[in-house]
Amino acid sequence: MKYQRKLRLTPRCLHCGEKIRYGRTDKKYCCEDCRMEHNNALARDSRTFRRRVLSQLSSNYSLLSTVLQSGADSVPLSDIVSMGFAPGIVTSYARVGKHDEFGCFDIKYRMTATKLYSMFKIQNVSLNLHADIDSE
Ligand SMILES: [Zn+2]
Repeated sequence: MKYQRKLRLTPRCLHCGEKIRYGRTDKKYCCEDCRMEHNNALARDSRTFRRRVLSQLSSNYSLLSTVLQSGADSVPLSDIVSMGFAPGIVTSYARVGKHDEFGCFDIKYRMTATKLYSMFKIQNVSLNLHADIDSE
């Protein structure tokens, strides 16, 4: 059996990619500026992500409202997705009987791979946001 030498990789700065030539072996950044810039970038990405999710929720809500206002309580998933609905972004989820019930704020609906159905808007919305958890 051939003896294999352990590779000793020189660590690289997580921000600029430069080799870190001195300091502790678990050092992640080449300098303080890189450490701060990297952390700022992560915070920026996190804010951007949250802003996009909130924007998508708002868009989903408008689309669901439009369907409800037309008098329908179901819509083919492909139709609403083509209008910009993102099925993976929800504000609530609950198992109701044999069905999965999703929520976008005060609009609830069931969803299969092909359609959204049993859509309704909650009347008299209560702000007891933990009620779903407690009632199980
Ligand atoms: Zn660096």
